Amino acid sequence: MKAHDGMYIDGTWRPAAGRDVIEVVNPADEQVIGQVPAGDARDVDTAVRAARAALPGWAATPPAERAARLAALRDLLVARAGEIAETVTAELGSPPKLSQTVHVGAPIAVAGSYAELAAAHAFEERVGNSTVYQEPIGVVGAITPWNYPLHQIVAKVAPALAAGCTVVLKPAEDTPLTAQAFAEAVHEAGVPAGVFNLVTGLGPVAGQALAEHPGVDLVSFTGSTAVGRKIAAIAGAAVKKVALELGGKSANVILPSADLARAVNVGVANVMSNSGQTCSAWTRMLVHRDQYDEAVALAAAAAAKYGDRIGPLVNAKQQARVRGYIEKGVAEGARLVAGGPEAPRERGYFVSPTVFADVTPGMTIAQEEIFGPVLSILAYQDEEDALRIANGTVYGLAGAVWAGDEAEAVAFARRMETGQVDINGGRFNPLAPFGGYKQSGVGRELGVHGLAEYLQTKSLQF
Ligand code: NAP
Ligand code: MG
Repeated sequence: MKAHDGMYIDGTWRPAAGRDVIEVVNPADEQVIGQVPAGDARDVDTAVRAARAALPGWAATPPAERAARLAALRDLLVARAGEIAETVTAELGSPPKLSQTVHVGAPIAVAGSYAELAAAHAFEERVGNSTVYQEPIGVVGAITPWNYPLHQIVAKVAPALAAGCTVVLKPAEDTPLTAQAFAEAVHEAGVPAGVFNLVTGLGPVAGQALAEHPGVDLVSFTGSTAVGRKIAAIAGAAVKKVALELGGKSANVILPSADLARAVNVGVANVMSNSGQTCSAWTRMLVHRDQYDEAVALAAAAAAKYGDRIGPLVNAKQQARVRGYIEKGVAEGARLVAGGPEAPRERGYFVSPTVFADVTPGMTIAQEEIFGPVLSILAYQDEEDALRIANGTVYGLAGAVWAGDEAEAVAFARRMETGQVDINGGRFNPLAPFGGYKQSGVGRELGVHGLAEYLQTKSLQF
């Protein structure tokens, strides 16, 4: 798609206040593919004013009509799926098939789910002698990362619009073209002017101005824990509601009764998908010591198969960061069984699919979020040891448990300090709440739990 040289504010593409631009780079070949305006506090202010002005009308719009706009938006994402997938591939570097099935497919499912939820949700209920109303929280400042550029936007904007909120979005600087394509679809879907606004720009400039703006009622942020902490502090000082989807270091627990080959192969695929740039990736594989050598051999073979099929990382900084973690793993005594720190290609921000064996729970690579195609395999002595290792990080976003018997896996999963667990390879569910325990975040996205983040309650007594 052709980049817009303006910002989508109050229903039109208008010029930015300043002249700064962001160059968008294709991470597979390092070519500049377009540029978008780098907005500042003035653009954020214009957008927030537009969102405030549109709020009373949108909040009073019947839920069935809000649902109809969301259904139209979903249909437009379907109609433009090919073009959006190409845009994601161009600015994120993901392989075309992944862009189509996951990067565009999942957001279509999520947009559709909120079209249905907006129509079906009970925004009003009787509790004894009271009527309780669920009212929109107001103007939402949404700040999103680049790793799933469309999904992260839809996971915030769709429930916000379903709830009757208006939105100002600041997408990641690395993937603004997908955000522009989304804004075009919102416009064509007939969403009224000012209900959705897009300000492209840099995090510490436009993002911070949005989080600080007194006209924003809720800041919904997805990204790193370091920035999330800053956003929470800003919101706390202003007594603003905040929703945070942060990092993860999820455990893939393979119990001795599991189908080992399947658990290892699915586990490796989970980590390598999207070049490891997934906050919920199962980056720690936990295997019983008696099955350890077999699991390591299976994982090394599975990772080697990826070879050239893996996309690049999003930018040079992430590539350097991930290679640094691989070097640190070697330095701390872990054993490389696939991949390594060398760049596999001359051009593009590629990192080899990498697997570490002999990883111990205290190592840096077992504790910190790497955000690249790097798997650590740890051995456990017994189930209690596995649980201690699984729960032994500051994070708690996701995880997996594999066992011969589903009930055995469920019993283990219930003891994990984490927000979402896949049992024996369970499938993605767009209605299942997604979000973190511990430092992985505050709040939930998706489904009815995600809708609740954008609502506040009022009770009238009779
Ligand atoms: P990030 O800096 O946290 O970026 C997330 C979003 O916040 C982007 O839109 C970013 O803008 C914006 N931002 C940055 N600084 C801000 C500030 N001071 N105030 C308001 N907004 C701000 O993440 P990143 O630098 O892209 O990635 C770094 C690490 O974060 C990764 O290695 C990974 O560990 C983690 N991460 C996690 C997720 C997740 O889904 N949990 C997603 C992406 C990254 P810019 O784009 O301009 O920086
Ligand atoms: Mg950043």
